[in-house]
Amino acid sequence: MNSTVRFPVSIEFFPPKTPEGVEKLRVVRQQLYALMPEFCSVTFGAGGSTQEGTFSTVRDILSEGVSAASHFSCIGATRAGVREQLATLKAMGVKRLVALRGDLPSGYGTGGEFHYASDLVAFIRAEMSDDFYIEVAAYPEIHPQAKSAESDLKAFAAKAQAGANSAITQYFYNSDAYFRFVEDADALGVQIPVVPGIMPIASSSQLMRFSDACGAEIPRWIRLRLLGFGDDTASIKAFGLDVVTDLCEQLRAGGAPGLHFYSMNQSAATLEICQRLGLAA
Ligand code: FAD
Repeated sequence: MNSTVRFPVSIEFFPPKTPEGVEKLRVVRQQLYALMPEFCSVTFGAGGSTQEGTFSTVRDILSEGVSAASHFSCIGATRAGVREQLATLKAMGVKRLVALRGDLPSGYGTGGEFHYASDLVAFIRAEMSDDFYIEVAAYPEIHPQAKSAESDLKAFAAKAQAGANSAITQYFYNSDAYFRFVEDADALGVQIPVVPGIMPIASSSQLMRFSDACGAEIPRWIRLRLLGFGDDTASIKAFGLDVVTDLCEQLRAGGAPGLHFYSMNQSAATLEICQRLGLAA
């Protein structure tokens, strides 16, 4: 790799719920800034449930001199409410959004004036022109609620056509799914960069729970190896580092435009993977 051109890395956090969590995340961020991330993003609870925490974490990142992206979900939202939140983010100095539909907890009606993330992207472009660089979500293993693989790909294309600049994928452990998705999107004329989302493996029960909820497949051989380690967290971590570093190598070698790490507000695994990839400063 040309050492003068850094391979772009971005890092995702969720807003902490307690003052201790806020302090812990401050330390974690400083450790991860050694990777010189292109930006750090902060998730947003659907329905605006974490808005205060999301915005204040974004403010903290900006005040640390790092580019911050606020995730922004539109499910259940009104145009007036979104307009107000966009104005707040712009006034904060935010230049990057991850525009999503989001998922409301079951029991909530969808309500709201936006149906899909593509509606949100179109609204942001109509209201705010090019004030924001807009990222959208992509699903190499297909979104769990999609009617078909084809309709999901078209939904992705609609987000690009509505004005998205770039995409970040749901995590996956099978690089073929990613490369096929990028090829299929390209065949539909979608040429925005699609950055793979990388989930380090730190705990098997947590990973299985998340993966069931979001439709990310854990290949059978990984699932069985993880189950075989039982409570042996050291072995789970060591295996996870090997598997995920190998995945990142394949993605980089195959032309992925960067890597977006789901840090889960922890630094160790992301740092170690990037060190192994030669991406740490
Ligand atoms: P959409 O792109 O709108 O797609 C949702 C579903 O609708 C898909 O099945 C799609 O195929 C279908 N669809 C879209 N358009 C049409 C159409 N015109 N006709 C018929 N079907 C259509 N969730 C949060 O709550 N907060 C976060 O911060 C957050 N961050 C995320 C970050 C990334 C990188 C990713 C990959 C996901 C994130 N999520 C987050 C999860 C996300 O909100 C869920 O996956 C949600 O179910 C879909 O959001 P979306 O923006 O992909 O929706």
